Amino acid sequence: MAEEFIPVNIPLFDGNEKKYLCECIDTGWVSSEGPFVKKFEENMAEYVGRKYAVAVSSGTAALETAVLSMGFESGSEVIIPTFTIISCAQAVTKAGLIPVVADCRLDNWNIDIDLIEKKITPKTCAIMVVHIYGLPVDMDKIYELAQKYNLKIIEDAAEMHGQTYRGKMCGSFGDISIFSFYPNKHITCGEGGMILTDDENLAEECRKIRNLYFTPDRYIHHKIGSNFRMTNLQAAVGVAQLEKIKEHVQVKRKLGKLYNELLSDIKDIALPVAQTEYADNIYWVYGIVLGESYAVNASEFITLLREKGVGARNFFYPVHLQPVYTKDGYFKDEKCPNAEKLYQKGLYIPTGTGMTEQQVYAVAQRLKETLIMCRE
Ligand SMILES: *Cc1c(COP(=O)(O)O)cnc(C)c1O
Repeated sequence: MAEEFIPVNIPLFDGNEKKYLCECIDTGWVSSEGPFVKKFEENMAEYVGRKYAVAVSSGTAALETAVLSMGFESGSEVIIPTFTIISCAQAVTKAGLIPVVADCRLDNWNIDIDLIEKKITPKTCAIMVVHIYGLPVDMDKIYELAQKYNLKIIEDAAEMHGQTYRGKMCGSFGDISIFSFYPNKHITCGEGGMILTDDENLAEECRKIRNLYFTPDRYIHHKIGSNFRMTNLQAAVGVAQLEKIKEHVQVKRKLGKLYNELLSDIKDIALPVAQTEYADNIYWVYGIVLGESYAVNASEFITLLREKGVGARNFFYPVHLQPVYTKDGYFKDEKCPNAEKLYQKGLYIPTGTGMTEQQVYAVAQRLKETLIMCRE
């Protein structure tokens, strides 16, 4: 008998999403000029505790806009984790800057801060902090380095809505921060992103970049911008989702904890760290890393899981191995064994905000059955 397929992500829309969307249609306000965009910006700024928020069309657009807005001298270096989404590296190279990667830790999968200092040169202008999968980077140490070497901090909080570091909201650290609202994030508006900062000039620059670098002198442009505007339709859903963020975060933490319990007795797999001294895991995704005793890599295991009716995805492919960069000679002698291992053996299993506990039980059961097959 065919079992119900459980997809890797199921979003949750149980608030005012429909109502606000209908308002857009009924009033005719669908473009970025509509009132929900400002409202979403104001509400996000207030929620995170930042002065300014600028809504854009995706998290990737937010990163590109944020990096560009800083006005770094061309050829400057930005330190990024190698274990992250390509958007981070792209934002750096598209701004005419050079990404310098550091390996990640094997416990919490975040950048290994002890490796950063060796990567700093006179050309380094910033550290891009990326909180990976559910636990924030140890920001105190990042601030220490940034102060010592006079570096800017760009915070990628795309996976961290509602997470805190020592009680302070993620998205409020460093010079400029970004969020994504892709459907697998804690709150979504289909596609969307947000830039947050306390610096009025940076916010103003971001507003220009997202809108083709329009200035009050309409149709006269002094710099290159993009059309990264968020529509009123997206923002309407975003406002409704943000009203529910507390519940969404609770769901994520509940699902994560349940997986921890159900999977704790499995031999030779690494589960997410439940807490550190500065944060409780928010389980943006629930990642697992197969140990050496399993005779499969992550991709093979994902295929087997799919046959059992469970959606799963690979971990990030390390930036220093990305063909788009290595073909041009980037990262030539770079060795990041931890990120490479995580890619080989790491995957994440279903954890959407719309997922039920029953589905978690089913995934855990099917996962165990699949694991046993791979040990024989
Ligand atoms: C999802 C994500 C992004 C990109 O967001 P999009 O909205 O998909 O463009 C950037 N950084 C991290 C860490 C992400 O997880």
